[in-house]
Amino acid sequence: MPIKNRFAELLPEITGWRRDIHQHPEILYETHRTSALVAEKLREFGLDEVTEGIGRTGVVGVIRGKADGSGRTIGLRADMDALPIHEATGVDYASRTDGAMHACGHDGHTAMLLGAAKYLAETRNFDGTVVVIFQPAEEGGAGGREMIEDGLMTRWSIDEVYGMHNWPGNPVGSFAIRPGAFFAATDEFNITLTGKGGHAAKPQETVDPTVMASHLVLALQSIVSRNADPVGQIVVSVTSFQTSSNAHNVIPQSVKLRGTVRTMAEDLRDLAQVRIAALATSVAEGFGGVADIRYDRGYPVMVNHEEQTAFASEVATAVSGACADAPLVMGGEDFAFLLEERPGAYILVGNGDTAPVHHPEYNFEDEAIPAGCSWWAEIVERRLPAA
Ligand SMILES: [Zn+2]
Ligand SMILES: [Zn+2]
Repeated sequence: MPIKNRFAELLPEITGWRRDIHQHPEILYETHRTSALVAEKLREFGLDEVTEGIGRTGVVGVIRGKADGSGRTIGLRADMDALPIHEATGVDYASRTDGAMHACGHDGHTAMLLGAAKYLAETRNFDGTVVVIFQPAEEGGAGGREMIEDGLMTRWSIDEVYGMHNWPGNPVGSFAIRPGAFFAATDEFNITLTGKGGHAAKPQETVDPTVMASHLVLALQSIVSRNADPVGQIVVSVTSFQTSSNAHNVIPQSVKLRGTVRTMAEDLRDLAQVRIAALATSVAEGFGGVADIRYDRGYPVMVNHEEQTAFASEVATAVSGACADAPLVMGGEDFAFLLEERPGAYILVGNGDTAPVHHPEYNFEDEAIPAGCSWWAEIVERRLPAA
């Protein structure tokens, strides 16, 4: 079975939803219009239950199959939020909100899951229950975790969860996946180094935090090169260096450093946290200053479960003829929280030769919709086969 015919028929309609959402991007938890549109469509499709306000602006829909002999429930999740980027695609349905843009394709994810929900509510050719999950705040706001805290898994008795992301660079509608650790844990650190400011011409009367911070930026490179096991995966990047004065003739009182840590294992996360604190404290002390360090743990490592990954790959092969082995991704994914709660799998669907995600010229490829929708529908029909 390749692409389901119904999705070829529905393509213009689903594309219309996608472009409408694209024109009205909403950031983090501010997905009010998008969530309302999703809830309205789900009700129009005749879902058995539609609940709004889960994880602030998240939406949950329930579709019961022809039978419920299996007693099993599968959760299918899409993200709805956009990014604070000024769009530069030049398409006629470009963002109407200055400074906000669907630059990660969550417009496409939402539209594809809506398409699948419409089909599943029409056909109900499965034995069990499907829960469609539309989450806000995937881009750094942990919207998935908030939905879990609002009872997502228990309230709807979800047994397994599946997720999908479009992937620029892979052929349109092709699939790729990997079992085990897939997307990185994403942590953030903030360090303030305080010395003693003063006149730039009298350095002997100051404790210069810019020199301190410069040494620390270099010292932090040793976490990856000297402390971490070379076969592990870890990134430590300092991304911001801010002095408390911008004058040419002033030695500032303090410097703020910011950065991110990406890892594929918990022990590397612990290592990074301990080493950042030790280096910041000792470098500051060595120069006569003090360090204030904050290390915030963000998304955990996203780990695909073996059995569900093999199943997701089998379904992808049925839909598109093949499923490639995906490489490790050092970016983060909020779906990691869902996979900590329940077994499941997260797959990539090719977006073709487009700009990368988070780029102002990126755009979701509508031609990927039939493959994405078919994968959702087949996940349900094969996992919960009707008698
Ligand atoms: Zn993104
Ligand atoms: Zn994304």
